[in-house]
Amino acid sequence: MNKGLPGDCLFCRIVRGEIPSQKIFENKELLAFKDISPRAPIHIIVIPKKHINSLSDAKKKDNALLGRIQLAVPEIAKKLLGENSSYRVVTNCGKEAGQSVPHLHYHLLAGRIFTWPPG
Ligand code: AMP
Ligand code: ZN
Repeated sequence: MNKGLPGDCLFCRIVRGEIPSQKIFENKELLAFKDISPRAPIHIIVIPKKHINSLSDAKKKDNALLGRIQLAVPEIAKKLLGENSSYRVVTNCGKEAGQSVPHLHYHLLAGRIFTWPPG
């Protein structure tokens, strides 16, 4: 994974509008857009606009940002699915865990039955 030039990462380019995305939600510090290769009928990617490689790289100073992104996810879920809906939130940390884009992101997945444990 590219750890050297964060501004070059795919999601930073989406934030800057250099790569198009289907935006679902945006504010000053967060962006949510449809996953290009959905693994469920609803598959949204929620990111901080600030580049952080993964949750493993988040620092104490990111505390409030992480709180806000985790509160944004259920807000987006409610907007898309209504109250009391089921959904799964996933953040892959590192290649072996399935992370392919080295910019912290939460997958919001819904619209089908999910099994446990995940593959
Ligand atoms: P991960 O594999 O956990 O790093 O998740 C990265 C996700 O980004 C995958 O589910 C991809 O399908 C998705 N993705 C890759 N490129 C794009 C893009 N241009 N627009 C939207 N989603 C993307
Ligand atoms: Zn980035």
